[in-house]
Amino acid sequence: MANLDKFSDPNVTAKGEARARVALTHPETLWFNTGTLCNIECVNCYIDSSPTNDALVYITADEVRDYLQQLVSRNWPVREIAFTGGEPFMNPEMIDIAECSLAAGYEVLILTNAMLPMMRKRVKQGLLELNAAYPGKLTLRISLDHFDRANHDTERGKGAFDKTLQGMNWLRDVGIRCMSPAAPSGATARRPAAPAIARFLQRMDMILTPSIPASPCCFQSWTNVPKCQKSPQPAGEFWTRIPTV
Ligand code: SF4
Repeated sequence: MANLDKFSDPNVTAKGEARARVALTHPETLWFNTGTLCNIECVNCYIDSSPTNDALVYITADEVRDYLQQLVSRNWPVREIAFTGGEPFMNPEMIDIAECSLAAGYEVLILTNAMLPMMRKRVKQGLLELNAAYPGKLTLRISLDHFDRANHDTERGKGAFDKTLQGMNWLRDVGIRCMSPAAPSGATARRPAAPAIARFLQRMDMILTPSIPASPCCFQSWTNVPKCQKSPQPAGEFWTRIPTV
């Protein structure tokens, strides 16, 4: 496991210094790790996920329900439940987990590489049903390191870029909102220039559309992108499919 020594003592750092603490004052997002297994093995994965790393077992829907109940009893002002892994859609209960979070009234954010685990028939059907039942409440954040295939695949493995774009295309076509972290996470990825991002989005049939509650795709962290638009856009807007006329 990465950084095991670094975090072996909750009170003392690896350098032997007293660990700093920050009081929890106004939690708005509660994050869950769904398990360390992943369908791929990225060069710079923060948690060494892989198809064989099951150091963190899959969290279950019953466990998540219990934590959600604790949010109520503790009166925490959380508005969003977020999930990372590993690849969350490797977890066989991920749709149930998202459903119980949405049913409890929270927005749900799922980080995914949008590859095969998300593209299985059962998972796609579950996502469609959740998006229909809770419009505007479900967002997927896609692990796209770069608009350039070679840069992305250097980080995530040959063929990863094309498979992720297939997943993004499906999300776009069915109207499920997604976004990209787009702060390049890997040593090989570089922050892309705004015009190149605009061209990439155009190739994907996407355009920035404010005020559409469930518009499909967002690249909100590519901070230069709004400059490509004709009018200023507020931060955090979403990229959506170019409307057909
Ligand atoms: S897709 Fe995410 S969880 Fe999986 S190996 Fe890559 S960085 Fe890690």
